[in-house]
Amino acid sequence: MNPLSVFLRTRYGKGFASRDAIEHHQNKAFQHLRRNIMPRSPFYAPYANKPLSEWPLMNKALMMEHFTVINTAGITKEEALKIALTSEQERNFAPMIGNIAVGLSTGTSGQRGLFASNKRERALWAALMLGRFSPSFLQRQRVSLFLRANNMLYERLGNALISFEFYDLLQIFSEHLPRLTKQQPTVLIAPAQILGLLAQAQQDRIINIAPRCIISVAEVLSPEDQTAIEAAFGTRVDQVYQCTEGVLGMTCRAGNMHLNEAYVHIERDVIDEASGAFAPIITDLTRETQPVLKYRLFDILILDPEPCPCGCASLRLKRIEGRCDDILYWHGDNGAPQMIPSDLIRQAMATSRSSIRDYRAVQHGQDRLDIWLETTDFKQASQDVSRNLQKQAFAIKARLPELQFHTGISLQPDQKRRRVIAEKQ
Ligand SMILES: [Zn+2]
Repeated sequence: MNPLSVFLRTRYGKGFASRDAIEHHQNKAFQHLRRNIMPRSPFYAPYANKPLSEWPLMNKALMMEHFTVINTAGITKEEALKIALTSEQERNFAPMIGNIAVGLSTGTSGQRGLFASNKRERALWAALMLGRFSPSFLQRQRVSLFLRANNMLYERLGNALISFEFYDLLQIFSEHLPRLTKQQPTVLIAPAQILGLLAQAQQDRIINIAPRCIISVAEVLSPEDQTAIEAAFGTRVDQVYQCTEGVLGMTCRAGNMHLNEAYVHIERDVIDEASGAFAPIITDLTRETQPVLKYRLFDILILDPEPCPCGCASLRLKRIEGRCDDILYWHGDNGAPQMIPSDLIRQAMATSRSSIRDYRAVQHGQDRLDIWLETTDFKQASQDVSRNLQKQAFAIKARLPELQFHTGISLQPDQKRRRVIAEKQ
């Protein structure tokens, strides 16, 4: 699949007419995977001719452990980790080894992972997004991306039809706003919570923009946020369900979320028979640098069995559970509350030298932050996290609340899927 065909198919295609069409498409893609990609991965080569049921079940921890032998570019885990960590610390987001970009993901599962992509893979992402969402190609489109670090790479995809501008979520939010008004994006891409804050800023006349297309990524968009955003900007909010493992779904022209079965094969690990709720096990049919095969995600999906009026037969989602974190507020240096994106917390965990398997950060008011760590070296991990948070607080001119570290994680039933939690006062 090349970026141009992806673009044309997404832009002008009608989607799959039937399950048969999806299966036919995926069978061809599996053949390509088995013939051309798996043999180049030392880890997966032995499975290239075995049935899918015999492929190993993958997850973030295993992917990390076997990174060196999974990727097809001959990059070692140590090499990749070193360059990714350095670039995160220096906030220089173009870490490359040859023409392969490497990044560190912290995602919603709490644990860090490495990912590597080549230019074609990054261009596929842009082709998919713009094919589906770009308002027009008669005028040059200006895209604002409010995303995490590694997405800086997308700025390099700009061309005569399109320009990308990147807004780092770990920098001070309010400092982005004048630049945003100046850029006047036609396409605005940001996590749901950030779109909510931008809608508020628009209403308070701190910004004045008129994007023709708004895309919510990375988190679940609540109906309340959706209404507020649509009211503030006077245009519909579309949603893309994506993670570092790929674009897993997007809303169609009828406004419903479909899984992206053109590029991702999805098996279900059913966890609740009554509702059919399942954790997806994904096989990405487009990746070549770092194959993502039978990879289990932590999200919980609930399908909508009704056929969609748009006519596309790809699976339709009713809900995505378990990817929302709260936004925290700390005191700013000027005394006013300052927003702390959950990414900042994730980042502090991800750049600890001792591996943190999971964590919870629960804030009480603006003055105390309780942090639970699951790690083999609690002392080292808590020191690292504390130092990282101090550095980040300093960088965004906020006062770090008092930190209380605890070992192990005690789950409260309604919080088990959120990692960053603001306790209501
Ligand atoms: Zn649809």
